[in-house]
Formats: sequence, structure tokens, C-alpha cells
Amino acid sequence: MIGGGNSAVEESLFLARFASRVTIVSRGALSASRTALAKLAEQTSIDVLPNTVPVAFAGQHGHLETVVLRDETSGQQREIHPGGVFVFVGVTANTELVKGFVDLDEHGAIQTDPTLQSSVPGIFAAGDARTGSTKQAASAAGEGAAVALSIRRYVTPLASGIPGEPCIPGQSV
Ligand SMILES: Cc1cc2nc3c(=O)[nH]c(=O)nc-3n(C[C@H](O)[C@H](O)[C@H](O)COP(=O)(O)OP(=O)(O)OC[C@H]3O[C@@H](n4cnc5c(N)ncnc54)[C@H](O)[C@@H]3O)c2cc1C
Repeated sequence: MIGGGNSAVEESLFLARFASRVTIVSRGALSASRTALAKLAEQTSIDVLPNTVPVAFAGQHGHLETVVLRDETSGQQREIHPGGVFVFVGVTANTELVKGFVDLDEHGAIQTDPTLQSSVPGIFAAGDARTGSTKQAASAAGEGAAVALSIRRYVTPLASGIPGEPCIPGQSV
């Protein structure tokens, strides 16, 4: 398992139900929640390698055979031969579709106002792709409901013939 946050630790605990050994490779100290770390401490089949990074993956015929790891403290390298590698090192917002069109933050997430409208009138964002989102399923669903109401508020005046903001700059609705 590559990563040291909640997802990496929780997925390692899950994997340990099926794998004889799980090795967590984390470039720093583990940053998972205290609850996850307490569960990890009870596990005897999970090794943790802090301050360690993967530097090479090798194998043949499309099958992974070796992972080369480097201890960032000592600089020493070692090889391990896992049956598989799982990577949980964070996510990037999949916002290519609107890049250069609506305002994004430095992480590529869509910036929204309190009504969840983006910098372009008529374009709203909800869920993980939105700046400041909590990255939780319940929040994403709730924001989806909130956006539906915002869209209704946005389109209702347009549908009743009251001029509104154009959805796309330069185009009338
Ligand atoms: C390993 C892991 C564990 C998690 N555990 C929890 C947990 O325990 N509890 C919790 O609350 N949350 C958890 N989460 C977070 C939760 O999954 C997310 O917060 C939630 O799924 C966000 O919902 P979303 O609709 O914003 O994005 P997503 O669920 O990612 O949905 C986005 C959708 O948009 C689609 N899409 C992308 N680009 C386009 C496009 N151009 N056109 C059309 N469709 C497109 C994608 O295919 C996808 O279906 C976890 C996430 C991960 C990765």
C-alpha cells in the first residue's frame, strides 16, 4: 500500500483480511485518524515503512514482481516482492472539461459562491470537484440537492421570460 492517510490505512486493514502480509509505504509519518491508527496497531500482519518512497516498479509480461523502495532518512534502497500494489496518495479534481472556462483554485477545484454557482453564471458545481468540499459522500449528495435548488432559482426567471444572465458568455439563453 502506498500512502499514509486515512484511505491508505483503512484500505490496508481491509486488504489484511485477504492478504498474508500488507506493507504500508508512506513518504512521511502516517497521517490517518486516531481511530484508524488504533485499529492498525491491533493488526499483526501489516508492516509500516514510514519515511519511505517507491522509486521503481519492475516485472515481466505485464506482471509486477519487484518494487524498489528508498528510505528517505538513510537513503538506503531495498526491494520487496508484493503480489500487488495499491496507491492511495490523494486525488486530483477531474475538472479538465471546464479548465480555462470557469475559475479553478490552485488544486484545480471549481470555485463557487454561496449558491454553489461557479464564476460563469448558470454553471454550478457540487461535490469533490468543488473548492472547499469535504470529500464526503453525504456532503456531495447534499450539495447536489442544493445545486438543484440554485439551478431552479436561476432558470425560473428565464423560463418566465424575464431576461437572465447568459449561461455561456456571448450566447443568449
Ligand atoms: C478510497 C475512498 C474511500 C472513501 N470513503 C468514504 C467514506 O467512507 N465516506 C464518505 O462519505 N466518503 C468517502 N469517500 C469520498 C466519496 O467517495 C466522495 O466524496 C464522493 O464520491 C464524491 O461524490 P462526487 O459526486 O462529487 O464525485 P464522484 O463520486 O467521483 O462522481 C463523479 C462522477 O462524474 C463522472 N464524470 C467525470 N468527468 C465527467 C465528464 N466529463 N462527463 C460526465 N461525467 C463525468 C465520473 O465518472 C463520476 O461518476 C471515499 C473516497 C475514496 C476514493
